[in-house]
Amino acid sequence: MIQYDHIMIRFGELSTKGKNKKDFIKALFNNIKSALKDWPLLTYDLRYDHIYVGLNEVPYKEVIERLQDVSGIQALSLVFRCLKDIELIKENALKLINEEEGKTFKVKVKRSDKTFPLISDEITRLVAGHILRNNKLLKVDVHSPDILLSIEIRQEAAYIFTHTYLGAGGFPLGIGGKTMHMLSGGIDSPVAAYLMMKRGVAIECIHFASPPYTQAGVIYKIEDILKVLNRYQPRIRLHIVPFTKIQEAIYDHAPESYGITLMRRMMFRLADSLAKRRKCPVISTGESIGQVASQTLQSMVVINAVTNTPIIRPLATMDKTEIIKISQKIGTYDISIRPYEDCCTIFTPRAPKTMPHLDEAEAFEEKFDYDSLIKEALANIETIFIEGETQEQLL
Ligand code: ATP
Ligand code: MG
Repeated sequence: MIQYDHIMIRFGELSTKGKNKKDFIKALFNNIKSALKDWPLLTYDLRYDHIYVGLNEVPYKEVIERLQDVSGIQALSLVFRCLKDIELIKENALKLINEEEGKTFKVKVKRSDKTFPLISDEITRLVAGHILRNNKLLKVDVHSPDILLSIEIRQEAAYIFTHTYLGAGGFPLGIGGKTMHMLSGGIDSPVAAYLMMKRGVAIECIHFASPPYTQAGVIYKIEDILKVLNRYQPRIRLHIVPFTKIQEAIYDHAPESYGITLMRRMMFRLADSLAKRRKCPVISTGESIGQVASQTLQSMVVINAVTNTPIIRPLATMDKTEIIKISQKIGTYDISIRPYEDCCTIFTPRAPKTMPHLDEAEAFEEKFDYDSLIKEALANIETIFIEGETQEQLL
């Protein structure tokens, strides 16, 4: 039985050229190798506009699934590499199509190597003719074939394939710099983290913990979420900020209705300082317009006023159902719905302000020395690394 021997990887949104293109490809190449490190038999081949993974008899299914999580990949094809000899191409194309199910086919040829003596139309005719003569069950259908047999003639070889899979799209992780991502134990912020990474931005996470109001279990939950996100970024830094004293001070000095507004202003102040310290040019969150009182546009204005650092909100315009769908797809949903209290749910006021005012928020904050509380919290951050387990550790 003839076997596909390579996976051909097509790049994602590569609108850039020159140095940017080089960086894109180099980052993608390294990310691919790192994602596939559990299969030492695989080999890698970097070409001008494709990357090839040599299977060396490794079963392709899991490799393709793993590659579908790597951002920056547009599409993946399972290909058979053969010498640029028309007789060999005809023969192997026939063998490959004989393994496929379907009654109709179409041959599609791309000739990137312009020195190849036959033009695309001639190759198409020769290959299709050979198939029709040798497999009486197959017919040609150029409009909606059951099997699309593609042939690409490139510098180094010819490639024959019938199966193409969609990649994650986006940009290779790392080329977009990094963000300080605010990660709670909820459904939204892990999805927002994934969308940032898909866009090529690496994450560092900041989590505000309020023991004893929040249980230690929240941290395990966060760690489990990050282990799932390790699929997209193998090593993630998590900063756990002690937030209890700040929260207590807010509730001692401000009316309940402003509690959430002030709490979120403190969170942004802390995230901002840490972002600067860690050289993250932006902050990101899982906020979505109107989802709760603190996420109305007016609330966002008042909360956002504590910083000039851009705050990226990948979920800003998404509905909860769309967000849930992504969290199920990436595998964080089941962890997010585990019932642990987070610091927001415990201190949630009965009637939070949906239309807070900046001057009022500032007036309440003047009543206590939040600055030294913030400094103290920053001095007591605990930082840990969450790293992807290898296939062996999982077994
Ligand atoms: P999520 O599902 O992400 O928890 P949410 O719908 O519960 O979001 P909020 O609690 O208002 O909404 O939080 C909005 C955003 O603020 C979160 O998506 C997250 O980015 C950030 N955030 C909230 N709580 C924390 C926390 N304890 N630590 C770090 N970030 C937090
Ligand atoms: Mg939350």
